[in-house]
Amino acid sequence: MKAEGILPTVGTKFDELTGLYNREAFFKEATLLLGARYDVSYCIVCMDISCFKIINDLFHMDTGNLILRAAADYIKEVLNPRTSLSCRSDADHFILCVPSDELQIEQIIKDLDKRIQDLHISHNILFFAGIYTVEKRDLPIEQMCDRAGMALKRIKGSYLTRYAYYDAKMRDQMIEELLISGNLEIALMEHQFTIFLQPIFDPRTNSVVSAEALVRWFHPIHGMVSPGKFIPVCERNGFIVRLDRFVWEEACRFQRKRLDEGKPIVPISVNLSRLNFYSLDLPDFLSLLLDKYELEPWMLKLEVTESAYTDNQVQLLDMISTFKGLGFSVLMDDFGSGYSSLNMLKDMPLDTIKVDMAFIRELEKSERVAVILKFVVQLAEALGMGVVIEGVETQKQCEYVASLGNVAVQGYYFSRPLPMQDFEKLLEKFPIKPR
Ligand code: C2E
Ligand code: CA
Ligand code: CA
Repeated sequence: MKAEGILPTVGTKFDELTGLYNREAFFKEATLLLGARYDVSYCIVCMDISCFKIINDLFHMDTGNLILRAAADYIKEVLNPRTSLSCRSDADHFILCVPSDELQIEQIIKDLDKRIQDLHISHNILFFAGIYTVEKRDLPIEQMCDRAGMALKRIKGSYLTRYAYYDAKMRDQMIEELLISGNLEIALMEHQFTIFLQPIFDPRTNSVVSAEALVRWFHPIHGMVSPGKFIPVCERNGFIVRLDRFVWEEACRFQRKRLDEGKPIVPISVNLSRLNFYSLDLPDFLSLLLDKYELEPWMLKLEVTESAYTDNQVQLLDMISTFKGLGFSVLMDDFGSGYSSLNMLKDMPLDTIKVDMAFIRELEKSERVAVILKFVVQLAEALGMGVVIEGVETQKQCEYVASLGNVAVQGYYFSRPLPMQDFEKLLEKFPIKPR
């Protein structure tokens, strides 16, 4: 180590690779420092690097080490050794203990990015930070770090937000997340999940053309838990793969029941969360479902969001092509909500785009949004694709989008998502023109 000439004293207190304190030494020293400097407000900062594991996979481990050393060198330079402490706690994680009025986090992140760019590694490497402003000095240092870590977790991978401060709400959310996670398995076993169906209309004929299946969780004590709360948790812990499969099967069961009763049906579209695309048996699973319920592929449509595209384009293209080969229609959900909607449109053989609700919300406030909507519809038509406009709530919005062309509309203006029985009643009231 010494031969490389960049490291200060290396001993059991120090991390061999970077020469910064190791985790244990940092915990001890920071506890002493915070105890001694009662008069000064301090921050604990947890930092890590985006996709560090990928860097270690893509490049040689030396490259990873080079990055970590460059980051550590900068940290040593920028922190005042008389007032601040730092360590590499493990892998690509750094922890700092800095007086609040000395912490220039934006500058630190900017400088760190620059240092790494100067190494000319062909991968975008970004630093993220979570910050806990020490309020309770008697809190063990490990818990202070946990809080900074919670703030970090909240923004990791967001690209636009590079640092966040911990607040008490985060702790409540974390506890809620743990509660949700701990209850999912039982909820599935005890049939607490069900699907609602939201009809999709042709606004020019007021007929129902299709529907979307949306999962609902009725907890025996807490009542209805919003998908906005539990879907992100399921996506983080992987449960979404099983939950989605449950939803698809419920949708198929519903279709079969109506067919057995000799009633007309419309296609039901289901959501495929991006994690599904890592399951190679996905096309088989869907084919088997169709076989099991004796359905034709047009009766089930598949909604895919852009985040799946951002993750792994080659695999997604393969998967979508396979779905198309099986006869399914594939929809792009939340079109326009991310950064690569147009790329996805360019590369993937999609049938329909579902325009994100954000556009409709802005419609009355912004002329430009009206123009964008108009051209999105034209673009889709030129590409031979269908369009669904999501989130239509008022007559005025509905009339505007209907004037744009052959669009379908999903929104509270026509109907909220309904329990299956209510959806069936709705199908009796309106003409049905499946498409
Ligand atoms: P999404 O796929 O974009 O679904 C449409 C959401 O918009 C639904 O929210 C629906 O109730 C809501 N919505 C429909 N029309 C209107 C309207 O006019 N105004 C407003 N404000 N909202 C409207 P929901 O059911 O709460 O679901 C939220 C999200 O949770 C879904 O967004 C989807 O991303 C996810 N989700 C729901 N069910 C499933 C599922 O079975 N699997 C997966 N992977 N995700 C699901
Ligand atoms: Ca959807
Ligand atoms: Ca959507």
